[in-house]
Amino acid sequence: MELPELYADIILPLAIRSVYTYRVPNGYNISLGSRVTVPLGKNKYYTGIVFRIHRNAPSYDTKSIIVSDETHIYATKEQLTLWNWISGYYMCPLGLVYRAALPSSLKLSGNEQELTEKFAYKTTLRYSINPKIDIDEKSKELKKYKRQSEVFDLLVANGALERNKFERTQLPALAVLEKKGYIIAEEKKLDRTISKDSISKKMPLLTEMQSGSFEKIKKSFSENKPVLLHGVTGSGKTEIYINLIDRYLVQGRDVLYLLPEIAITSQLITRLADYFGERIIIYHSKINNTIRAEIYLRMLERNRESVIVVGVRSSVFLPFNNLGLIVVDEEHDANYKQNDTAPRYNARDSAVILAQIFKTNIILGSATPSIESYYNAVNNKYSLVELTEKYHGSNNIQYIISDVLRASKRGEKISHFTSELIREIQSTISEKNQAILFQNRRGYSPYIECQECGCTFFCSDCNVSMTYHKSHKSLVCHYCGKKESIPHRCTKCGSNNIKPMGFGTEKIEQELKSLFPEAAIDRFDLDTATNNKQFRKIISDMESGKTDILVGTQMVTKGFDFDKVTLSAILNADNMLNIPDFRAQERGFQTMMQVTGRAGRRNTEGTAVIQTSQPEHPVIVQVRNNDYQGMFRSQLMERHRFLYPPFCRLISFTLKNRNKTILDHGAEVFAKELRHVFGRRLLGPDIPAIDKIRNEYICEFLLKIEKEKSFSEAKKIITGLVDKINRTDTFKTLTVSINVDPQ
Ligand code: ADP
Ligand code: ZN
Ligand code: ZN
Repeated sequence: MELPELYADIILPLAIRSVYTYRVPNGYNISLGSRVTVPLGKNKYYTGIVFRIHRNAPSYDTKSIIVSDETHIYATKEQLTLWNWISGYYMCPLGLVYRAALPSSLKLSGNEQELTEKFAYKTTLRYSINPKIDIDEKSKELKKYKRQSEVFDLLVANGALERNKFERTQLPALAVLEKKGYIIAEEKKLDRTISKDSISKKMPLLTEMQSGSFEKIKKSFSENKPVLLHGVTGSGKTEIYINLIDRYLVQGRDVLYLLPEIAITSQLITRLADYFGERIIIYHSKINNTIRAEIYLRMLERNRESVIVVGVRSSVFLPFNNLGLIVVDEEHDANYKQNDTAPRYNARDSAVILAQIFKTNIILGSATPSIESYYNAVNNKYSLVELTEKYHGSNNIQYIISDVLRASKRGEKISHFTSELIREIQSTISEKNQAILFQNRRGYSPYIECQECGCTFFCSDCNVSMTYHKSHKSLVCHYCGKKESIPHRCTKCGSNNIKPMGFGTEKIEQELKSLFPEAAIDRFDLDTATNNKQFRKIISDMESGKTDILVGTQMVTKGFDFDKVTLSAILNADNMLNIPDFRAQERGFQTMMQVTGRAGRRNTEGTAVIQTSQPEHPVIVQVRNNDYQGMFRSQLMERHRFLYPPFCRLISFTLKNRNKTILDHGAEVFAKELRHVFGRRLLGPDIPAIDKIRNEYICEFLLKIEKEKSFSEAKKIITGLVDKINRTDTFKTLTVSINVDPQ
């Protein structure tokens, strides 16, 4: 009996909802994950990836695959499974996941009938002595030519050397020797691995407490449960990871070590290189396209040595082989979520899925776990392992909660600094120690504050602070869009002294310079550290002690260890706690713990100053008491009461158009369609603080779906409605971006 015809579903690099089915001509030997070129529309050709092979003839007339690349596959079975999950869960076309997952030079460009490769390995020349010559004889002969003799002896001593190992002045001599036939040159692929002359270090010996945790982790792994490692800063989480990683690498299994951003990779890589040397692959956005493609192809080889990938979120897309372990460091970090472009995925959550796909182990670590992860641990979805002690003794941080309102009433404040903080800075620098001052710069959307009692204004429906809009002098809820005029009097104390708040790092730096003219002051934020060179200079000036005071944003909080920092200060804690986001309190706690933890890393005594107008604010008290549990419990209660994750799931929608009328009309139709199904679960439209970007007007919606309701059912309905709106002629130009689990 003749089998029915063979078909393949192909992922094309386009924003279309489904895969397309093509006929596989006789004699084509395609496989899952291989590359093919197919026609689409009139005279258009695309290169895609084979997603599924089957014999179910579609109801429509199918075209045939034109070209097939049978040399090897470009995506493994596990990768295709992950892409499919990301596409479904984050409501993103599979083609866009494919576009994000494959390095750009491996994606063949659009309208071509031939598979033309954009990618070529970078090569170098490798020189060695011609084995056919008599070394002693030639060496003698060359004595009279200084350079040639020097180069020849170098090669005799080393066997073979790559071109970049020679001085520029030696290159002509190399050419002459090659011409004479004394040495030979071979072209070879450039070696990108981290070279370590000797990987000397033995695995770090764990302390009793660390060993206890290590055993607990192994036990949970044997039960196939993800582990949440909650360990205070400096407790040795990294040492535990190193011990774990080693076990998998020796078994010939790959390891993925995820970090939230590049900035913190360098110190870690230096540490890991001592143990794992050339098995380390570094993967992040600053790595150029050629190297990305090289890494991808190297990892696709199936008989290779196992590797450890240290990378940011996009490294979940690499072709792992026999993946054994995933480490998600700083798991609470919001950077794991890609919010701005599709696929809007969370790499931490995708990593949990990746571990399931490989039926393997994953450990999430943090000093201040996210509410969601800790909740999973409390509910036994993850197993919880805790490390409560620092390795280098217990160094107490002395907290000073500095009340800015009281200080300013008593005249004990100079611009943004209380006299308490000024005194601490003064004594720190006179003892030749260093200070780190933190100012959250997300101040473009200030809030208003009562200058008498320090209270701010919250939306009564959403429990988030309302944003001050300068242009139309009103308060707006960033979540539900509720608008209120600016109150004349404080609702709590009746004072009429109400002001918009917010200031940034640049202003702080300026003021510090006039307060401490003798001190060396540096600033660390996106404006001063625009490239790697500036970035490294700021860090090395801190390390060498050249800088006395470092002012910065979020960037100063992450993973740097400077031994001489004895003072850390938060200039405006209110600014953090009052941003219009239901996660503001949790984030505020995490950031404040991180900043204050910068002071006194080694046995030295450290001081942390927190300037606030709300010294009794629960989060401030929790920070001072080092009370993660307290923060977790109170936040969980709030989330329950006002229905936020982990008690519901969120989907946010951003509508954009150049024409305000079309946008408003679109928002109206969108609201009507979705409310018809979801009712009050849909919040909005909300006009964001920045309501026009690159000439496009913006409005936003937020949808809350209870945990008990079917999420996939809701997503299906949403996709249908959004597609329906987009098909209407009036709304052809309206863009609707969907963000599942927004951060
Ligand atoms: P964390 O990752 O939890 O912040 P680290 O792993 O960076 O903690 O440990 C903090 C410091 O203590 C590091 O300098 C580390 O080398 C040292 N340390 C931790 N545990 C050990 C150990 N078992 N043996 C030697 N040094 C350790
Ligand atoms: Zn008041
Ligand atoms: Zn509201």
